[in-house]
Amino acid sequence: MFTDYVKIYAKAGNGGNGAISFRREKYVAAGGPDGGDGGRGGNVYFEVDPDSNTLIDFRYRKKFKAESGKNGEGGHRFGKSGEDLYIKVPIGTIVRDANTKEILADLSEPGQKALILKGGRGGKGNAHFATSTRQAPRFAQDGENGEERELILELKLLADVGLIGFPNVGKSTFLSMTTSATPKIADYHFTTLQPNLGVVKTDYGDSFVIADIPGIIEGASEGTGLGLQFLRHIERTRLLLHVIDVSGSEGRNPVEDFYTINNELKNYSEKLSKRKQIIVANKIDIMQDESLYKELEKVAKENNMEIFKISAATNTGVSELIKHVAEVLKTLPKENLVEIKDRKVYTLKDDDEYTIEKEDGMFVIKGEAVERVMRRVNIADNESLYYFQRSLDELGVNQKLKEMGIKDGDIVKICDYELEWED
Ligand code: GDP
Ligand code: MG
Repeated sequence: MFTDYVKIYAKAGNGGNGAISFRREKYVAAGGPDGGDGGRGGNVYFEVDPDSNTLIDFRYRKKFKAESGKNGEGGHRFGKSGEDLYIKVPIGTIVRDANTKEILADLSEPGQKALILKGGRGGKGNAHFATSTRQAPRFAQDGENGEERELILELKLLADVGLIGFPNVGKSTFLSMTTSATPKIADYHFTTLQPNLGVVKTDYGDSFVIADIPGIIEGASEGTGLGLQFLRHIERTRLLLHVIDVSGSEGRNPVEDFYTINNELKNYSEKLSKRKQIIVANKIDIMQDESLYKELEKVAKENNMEIFKISAATNTGVSELIKHVAEVLKTLPKENLVEIKDRKVYTLKDDDEYTIEKEDGMFVIKGEAVERVMRRVNIADNESLYYFQRSLDELGVNQKLKEMGIKDGDIVKICDYELEWED
């Protein structure tokens, strides 16, 4: 089955921790701080893969993690940055936040890539914190966590041209002749189950995207066949090429086929049925009876449509048609179908959260954010405590304590430490 909607989990790399280290030299009791910075965590990018046209691979692999940065080391050695991760997706993929449904990227251009999750910054080593009055800082910064999210990938074909028509009329053959796509070409009435995209490059340097949309069968618009799912994908095209077998080789009647397919379209979407259509009379190389074509030509005229005679298999009349399509596309507006909102900067919720509760007259602070700061602090070191205070300030802890009515002499408990509050 064709997959056009998958949910995955991705996480950028964590930043490496800064190091706490002091230079050790012979005969020198305590050297200066030389703890290096942690490396940056790898980012997660999404990138257009020109060779893929489905999201099928994501059904088997749903978890992606970029590499974390390495911790800093003594001797001012920086930790190595984590490798960025590039997740390859087919052209036309929309990346959404699974929770908010916000669109993070619309990968609709060849070669496009988008930064989706930022790696955590590396923590600063203690070498950074030395000042003239604080010569031996016994603390360093932890690396930030990388962003993580559940993401929805949606593939909407961004084809300019959609190929419609009955199974076996030669749509896949046409696509394979005009583009580098390699669709399955079948001699039976199961059409290819995946829409195939191909980029057509004309001799004049124009290019456009063509999609082979299989599965328009009778009853498709009522959801009986696989067709309905595929019909959704042609909604974004600007021009339809209606491929019709005029050879009579399978006992088909071209005029009947023309009306049947158009009724299907109309039942599915009024708007789509009004889209510009060019009739492509295919298989003229094995045409036994010109009259079938003549009838179709008449119908084309009545419906005010152009008609082209080709043989996809022998590549007859194909380049003339392509040239014409390129010209027509220039006259059709390109709708901007998806709006990208400004990206919000994402912060990890559970990382920022902490609680303050009053227990037995003490103010007890719990939560990863605060405890993390605490773990890196040397309580016996005044400078370290000062750094700790500042970190708490940045987290808004002091403000919250004041709002809760803390007074001089009250006890604040974090991890196993009890600290006395002094304003
Ligand atoms: P689709 O179902 O519309 O994608 O049709 P395919 O491209 O798979 O073609 C169905 C069959 O028709 C295949 O056996 C093709 O080789 C054949 N075919 C396609 N185009 C032509 C053509 O122009 N002339 C002839 N003789 N056969 C063709
Ligand atoms: Mg096909």
